[in-house]
Amino acid sequence: MLWRLPGGSCGFAPYVVRRTLIPDLVLDAYGAQGGVGVTFEDGRIVDIGPAKRGERLTGKALAPGFVNDHSHAFQRGLRGAVERIEPSHPLDDFWTWRERMYALANELTPDSIRKVSRRCYEEMLSAGYTSVTEFHYVHHRPDGTSYRDPNALAKAVARAAEDTGIRLLLLPVAYARGGLPRFRDPSVRAFLERVDTLVEWSEGRSLVEAGVAAHSVRAVPRGWLEEIGEYARLNSLPLHIHADEQPREIEECQAEHGMRPIELLARTGFLGPGTTIIHATHANAKELDLLSEHDASVCACPTTEGNLGDGFLPAEEILQRNIHLSIGSDSHVRIAPCEELRELETNARRLSGRRNVLVAEHETSPTPWLLRAGWDRVGLKAGDPADLIEIDLSHPALADVGARNLPSALVFGAGSGVLVGTWVEGRKVHGPDDPVG
Ligand SMILES: [Zn+2]
Repeated sequence: MLWRLPGGSCGFAPYVVRRTLIPDLVLDAYGAQGGVGVTFEDGRIVDIGPAKRGERLTGKALAPGFVNDHSHAFQRGLRGAVERIEPSHPLDDFWTWRERMYALANELTPDSIRKVSRRCYEEMLSAGYTSVTEFHYVHHRPDGTSYRDPNALAKAVARAAEDTGIRLLLLPVAYARGGLPRFRDPSVRAFLERVDTLVEWSEGRSLVEAGVAAHSVRAVPRGWLEEIGEYARLNSLPLHIHADEQPREIEECQAEHGMRPIELLARTGFLGPGTTIIHATHANAKELDLLSEHDASVCACPTTEGNLGDGFLPAEEILQRNIHLSIGSDSHVRIAPCEELRELETNARRLSGRRNVLVAEHETSPTPWLLRAGWDRVGLKAGDPADLIEIDLSHPALADVGARNLPSALVFGAGSGVLVGTWVEGRKVHGPDDPVG
């Protein structure tokens, strides 16, 4: 039975309250099942099971949407523009790339950041990401003074997400030193006041949630790390930070603090179950042990880390310690969740000279661990948001693949072209027009 509420929010089609989709297959991290319907109501899945009545999605499979846990949406504006040597920088590396990125960041206005973010989020939806964590550090006017609304740029990014229908975790990022004047707040107190206001503003916006972040141990001093860590804990907010992306950052941290970045984060109370370390590319065994002890997570961004020459994620060591892993498209050199997952395993194979390396205990394939990192869940289940992707089983990349092998074919043998629909909160936000919604 289908019925509708009048009107819809954010310009979407009328909101369908209850709906059952019956695809040929429902995919999880371990395989795929036929004869299963997915019923959702008010944006949440309420039932997964045998269903005879509902809308048939012939030739299609449904699976969870991917979670993009690290994004700088405005960097989508660098696509294709940084893949050549500049005569002024004959030796190109992360640090020269950063100069190009700063030049772009300095030009942004509330209107232009909304526009580039919208383009980026539309691409994410087309690639199968249904939610994104935006690590947002461009806060003020180019000269460092506040906009009339000190959160104007953060709100422009949030509105871009709402324009497209993607789910957003918005992280205002503390920046104390270095970078551009518009990244920086004068004090940690001033920063946290802005975060308070933004958290309050985001409440009641169905697609937007706010957390908090510090840019890096390079950009944020010890006292700030202590206060931001405590603030996140007291307010139960997700807490993110870049760490161990480049060897130089580690050397500078050792020179300033006499310890490595993740050791400093542990010492300042920044690490906890709500903390996510972005990159951890050069984390050593002691630092990984600290992440495990504090139940903190790692977000890997393999296509960006490859593009910037960062190095290889210590993925095997992360798996051995059972550290929670997520993926992010970061600089958006590519927006393709299965490519991020494939890179994790492919890099592990190149490094080890073995095949099927990232295999969790009691499992025989890397695919379940990789898909859990990409989806942040094992499969669709009642109670979860109705954030789904619709896969074309007749696509040349998946034709003749049996149900048992479908998850691995998705990770290892397919691109985003196999996706024909993306649903967030039970609304179709990408793909051919929804005949009902
Ligand atoms: Zn980043």
